[in-house]
Amino acid sequence: MSDLKNQVALVTGASRGIGRATALRLARAGAHVFAHYSASRDAAESLLAEAAGLEGAIELIAADLARADGASEVIKAIRDRGIKRLDVLVSNAGVASVKPIEEQTVAEFDRHYAVNVRTPYFLVQQALPLMGEGARIIVLSSSTARSAPIGAALYASTKGAVNVLVRCLAAELGARGIRVNGVAPGAIETDMAGFLKIPAAREATLSQQALKRIGQADDVADVIYFLASSQSRWVTGDMLEVGGGTRL
Ligand code: NAP
Repeated sequence: MSDLKNQVALVTGASRGIGRATALRLARAGAHVFAHYSASRDAAESLLAEAAGLEGAIELIAADLARADGASEVIKAIRDRGIKRLDVLVSNAGVASVKPIEEQTVAEFDRHYAVNVRTPYFLVQQALPLMGEGARIIVLSSSTARSAPIGAALYASTKGAVNVLVRCLAAELGARGIRVNGVAPGAIETDMAGFLKIPAAREATLSQQALKRIGQADDVADVIYFLASSQSRWVTGDMLEVGGGTRL
């Protein structure tokens, strides 16, 4: 299926996990994908070999999104490569530290808000001059914003902010024909969800889901692809839960 042929996409945090699966999914649909990474250079470079033979293509961009100028650096790198139009922006890069409030620090708080909230906001701001009628923005939230698991106050609050951001930006950008949606995964088997390696935690996760298997990055990437495709043309300001029925 090459319905994103000749379209340009940016996926942040594409070196690993959900972002990686998304970059490959969009390239499989024909898109020219700018795959962003920060610390995981080797993993990002391995994407290039994995993408060979796909309908679309993958190009890498590096930037630390915990830095104040991270978002503008990413968009500048795209412009510097002669790109004048961005069709799909997937703000996926994220950090998660789940621990009791007594153990969190101001530095960790600031890092979470920098990567998880400030980055999508300013990525959209910086990308807007490249985004015209029909462009799509997809931001990664989390089921934790709704289900409030113990120890997740810091992380979940950043995703609560993302939920508001998605609705407000959809309202603000709708008149320009730009759609803004979010995806809220439940537990997905990636580095971020290291707790799934602990048998008891895995069992607990399964017991909280209607569907009795652990979610995989591709399960989310397919939904992001749907939001990036014209199949979702009448969907905006929405937050799609992708959690096999998490804590229904
Ligand atoms: P992951 O496997 O831990 O990957 C995180 C990605 O974010 C990596 O590509 C990483 O890049 C990038 N990143 C982290 N800090 C960064 C920074 N300072 N600057 C630039 N990039 C940075 O995570 P994931 O599970 O795929 O999660 C992806 C998104 O889904 C996140 O927004 C997360 O909150 C959300 N989510 C995940 C789950 C889950 O259970 N896995 C559930 C709900 C929501 P480098 O390694 O190259 O630095």
